[in-house]
Amino acid sequence: MELRKDPITRSWVITGDEHSESSQDYGCPFCPEGGQHLQVVQFVPSANGNPWAARAVVHPHPIYRIEGEPERAGNGLYDKMQAVGAHEVIVENTRHDRHLWNAEDREIEEYLALLGSRIDDLKKDLRFKYVTVFKNFGGLSGQQWDHPTTEIVATTFVPRRVLYELRSAREHYHVKERCVFCDILAQEQQQKTRVIEVRGDYIAACPYAPRVPYETWIAPRMHEAYFERIATKSGALRDLAALLRRTLHRIRTIADGFHMVLHTTPNTLHRSETLGFWKTIDDDYHWHIEILPILGSKEKSYTFKEVYSSPVTPEAAAARLREAPAEA
Ligand SMILES: [Zn+2]
Ligand SMILES: [Zn+2]
Ligand SMILES: [Zn+2]
Repeated sequence: MELRKDPITRSWVITGDEHSESSQDYGCPFCPEGGQHLQVVQFVPSANGNPWAARAVVHPHPIYRIEGEPERAGNGLYDKMQAVGAHEVIVENTRHDRHLWNAEDREIEEYLALLGSRIDDLKKDLRFKYVTVFKNFGGLSGQQWDHPTTEIVATTFVPRRVLYELRSAREHYHVKERCVFCDILAQEQQQKTRVIEVRGDYIAACPYAPRVPYETWIAPRMHEAYFERIATKSGALRDLAALLRRTLHRIRTIADGFHMVLHTTPNTLHRSETLGFWKTIDDDYHWHIEILPILGSKEKSYTFKEVYSSPVTPEAAAARLREAPAEA
């Protein structure tokens, strides 16, 4: 397995997956009574008698391997490196019927705190430039297990989408000395047409130029570049947990599945001189969650998409999601 860089788009792709699918169905690997041996990285103790509330484990079939150095190498025009990284699964809950849209807010808060803590921990490894948190839900999303899970991948490169955001956030800051996300949120809260819900310090809204129908973002209304910074503050996640739950509930009434990704700052302990993002990142970047619903079989996984099309305007999408029930 190795990472190769597309010289045109400058994005890294992973190739050479010789993974032999030998995992027979021995039942759910993530249930507390599951037979499979899991390498537990971190867990949240349970308050209600369960063995744990949420926990992080090493992915049973990791794409990235924790050992070794990236060994960046060139071959003429082409760049490659070893698939060094961390690949973890966040088991959101002990049960299959407790999801991010129907669990208790306290459970979702614990899940969010665990995400923050994992990001913080993985960023201490200076080989890693970025920590991606994502969740695929639904048959067409690439969801791998029935058990409610989220994945975390720490990579030796910054994913292209995040790189685009970082570049444009930095450029906006250089010209205006303001955070582009704060500017967007201010305008959205004034216009209100694309806002789904405001809850405490957080907002859920449909972006002005969506990639898929009903694309929804959740962001803090006050400026903050690092998700993991708020995740360790007590009480700071209560409104976020409720807003995430209510937003996913709304989306679930419209779409069968979704991709969810958390965008936070790259590893600023790794001060890449070529990228130079760390210089103003505290002021120019703004963490957020992106939710990309999957409607019907026409939709391909967004990670493979280069050009996005959306027949539903974000104004109509926000209006319909506002009307959709946010509670069971
Ligand atoms: Zn299970
Ligand atoms: Zn901001
Ligand atoms: Zn983003």
